Amino acid sequence: MVDPELLSKINERRVLEFFQRSGPSSRAVISRACALSAPTVSKAVAALIRHGMLEEGGIADSAFGRPGRLLQIAEKTANVFGVVIDAGTCWVGSAQIDGEISESNQRSFPTPETYPELLGLIEEQVASMAGEANVLLPASRALSPSLRPSRQGSSQLPQITSRYRGLGISVPGLLNSRLGQTVMSPNLHFLNGEQVASDLGKRLGLTCVALQESHALCLGERMYGAARGLDNFAMLDVSTGLGLGVVSAGRPLTGNSGLAGELGHITVEARGILCGCGNRGCLETVATDSAFARRVSETIGRPVQLPEALALLQSGHLHASDALERTIEYLAIAVAAVINIFNPATLFVHGKLLGADSSIFERVLLEAQKRSLNVSFADCRIFQAKGNKRQGAIAGVIQSLADAWAPSLLDLHPSVGGSGGPFGKSVATRR
Ligand SMILES: [Zn+2]
Repeated sequence: MVDPELLSKINERRVLEFFQRSGPSSRAVISRACALSAPTVSKAVAALIRHGMLEEGGIADSAFGRPGRLLQIAEKTANVFGVVIDAGTCWVGSAQIDGEISESNQRSFPTPETYPELLGLIEEQVASMAGEANVLLPASRALSPSLRPSRQGSSQLPQITSRYRGLGISVPGLLNSRLGQTVMSPNLHFLNGEQVASDLGKRLGLTCVALQESHALCLGERMYGAARGLDNFAMLDVSTGLGLGVVSAGRPLTGNSGLAGELGHITVEARGILCGCGNRGCLETVATDSAFARRVSETIGRPVQLPEALALLQSGHLHASDALERTIEYLAIAVAAVINIFNPATLFVHGKLLGADSSIFERVLLEAQKRSLNVSFADCRIFQAKGNKRQGAIAGVIQSLADAWAPSLLDLHPSVGGSGGPFGKSVATRR
């Protein structure tokens, strides 16, 4: 016998996820789409409105009977923050709980030198964005008693209103999801050993969720991108480092503690250059955007960053250069490795070099085909990823909120295809 309270919560989650996927709708449409009775839908909708997750919208056109009132995801009473920590630039933004990122409420800043500075800058940006949003709220709501105070003793910082439900963080490197701790971040060493979700949770008084960046990309693509509805895909991220996320039978492969998928730290050149992980000749040192920038630097005899290297490529200065050929070869080796090991139905590849010139991706595929098992390559569709880590960070916190609301059907019945489940994330809240 299912606990009636749990059943109500599960129905509320189903209705909420329907709005997150499908946008504004009437009660009648939800009832048909979710196969729930009209009274059940009305009860779930009432609960979600009471909690500020849904709001009444305009009038629905209806070919049958009376026109109904549309319901939609609440615009100003349920928002989340997303944070992307990266080696060069960090990003903080806010979004609605359907993942719609606010155009105006987002900031980027150069990644600082130390961990305390990073926490301070994120806190500053979040507090200032919450402060601006607070001004837009009616006074009664802005001063609601359910306000949670920001860090004790920092009374100058604007308070974070109850409108913000949580914060998702995309973290580079190896994240132990059981401990919520960055084991090692080869391209951002000051994160080593730190528990960024827990530390930000204490400072901000918000539920904070950390996701390993490749898992964030996977989740973002699955919730808002081209992987919607896919239960079997892989995501290869070849930006600064080389990360991999794999979803198999609707579940992310996380390994024992969330460290699975570190393809970037497989040795491909036994005496190669030193990697940020301490090993030599890792795939990450030869197949990424940063490997390409390093090779271009060697070719032209002065250090250049990726934007300049890409500009040189696009202006024809690096045509048929060794820098490009070598990077394409190793990128193809990475693609072939994923195809041979995981046999994904779909593989997304994410990286700036691939977008610089349409022929590069085609050449990577041709080369990968030669290096993969024929049958596995033929079984796999390969696309350039359209999503980004920003969407992934937002998707992570939104899924965590849904999990806190009620277990998903997939959790209760693993044989049922569904919305995913935890993506190697670690959750921390303020005590
Ligand atoms: Zn390495």
